[in-house]
Amino acid sequence: MTPNSAGPAQALLLLVLTSCTADNGRADTASARSDVRFEVPEPFSGSWYKGNTHTHTTASDGDTPPDEVARWYRDHRYAFLVLSDHNTFVDPESLANLTNSAFLLIPGQEVTSSFDGTPVHVNGLNLPGLVEARTSPTLVGTVQANVDAVREVEGVPHINHPNFRWAFGTTELRQVERYRLLEIHNGHPQVHNRGGGGTPGVEAVWDSLLTDGRRVYGIAVDDAHHFQGEFAPDRANPGRGWVSVNAPELEPGAIMEALENGRFYASGGVELSDIVVSNRRIEVHIATRDDFRYTTTFVGAGGRVLGRSVENPAVYELHDDVSYVRARVEDSMGYEAWTQPVFVLPDTMIP
Ligand SMILES: [Zn+2]
Ligand SMILES: [Zn+2]
Repeated sequence: MTPNSAGPAQALLLLVLTSCTADNGRADTASARSDVRFEVPEPFSGSWYKGNTHTHTTASDGDTPPDEVARWYRDHRYAFLVLSDHNTFVDPESLANLTNSAFLLIPGQEVTSSFDGTPVHVNGLNLPGLVEARTSPTLVGTVQANVDAVREVEGVPHINHPNFRWAFGTTELRQVERYRLLEIHNGHPQVHNRGGGGTPGVEAVWDSLLTDGRRVYGIAVDDAHHFQGEFAPDRANPGRGWVSVNAPELEPGAIMEALENGRFYASGGVELSDIVVSNRRIEVHIATRDDFRYTTTFVGAGGRVLGRSVENPAVYELHDDVSYVRARVEDSMGYEAWTQPVFVLPDTMIP
């Protein structure tokens, strides 16, 4: 038998695996179990570094030169920034005078392609130089080809704004491999984060992928283009989406490793001070602001709401038979933060 032909044994295995995945999704409505455990991550003992991985300059279609853009983020107390111009590489070496032990520039690019008029944008983080955008005879193939182009030079890919011009969604992203990061919140005014008219929002797409068992983490970004003139809802201004990464040091490799392992939260305005996970408990500690009030929603497979809390920390106790749990914190002005999913160990892995 050639390695590519599936015999009866492989077909049976595939059937079993498929059934398990489906059971996982359905299991969230099953009765309580006493032996469930989270897959507990290493404690978040590093420092939290605020950063933005998607922004533009005059090197492509932004309105401000790279040095001024970098200065905006440094002045607003970001710890790191990726300048991600369309198919243009801005070398951070040329901006070395702006960096210091508290502000890091990570080289990157928005690898910008299309399929049949549909935009396919994949960011490459921590790149050694320019990555040529690729095309393919299919939409899925185009997304995959550009993810692969970033991986081939040992960069970290993230899938950008799926709902921009309603380009692609769950069906396509299910078929793409070798990515860990998906934009679930993008600050650009035309990217349709929330979906509509029957098309799911990007957060719901994320839940569909997680329900499948995929390890995909949700990031928030600015996609800023406009640093000049008026700051207004219909302009692509900075400061609207970021990640806060827990890493041992402010160094590109450490930041990339933390991102690819989900050691961060994403934010559109809410700050967290800690995330504590133990065998059967998640605590989300909110860095409260003035007299703002907060509601935390715990979400599981299929986007099902597992619980809500108005306390700080917000606590989720694991009793249900669920496959993963993540939290969305919303403040009294509608700003949000999203923690990464914590996965529940399969039965066979409980000691
Ligand atoms: Zn884009
Ligand atoms: Zn962009």
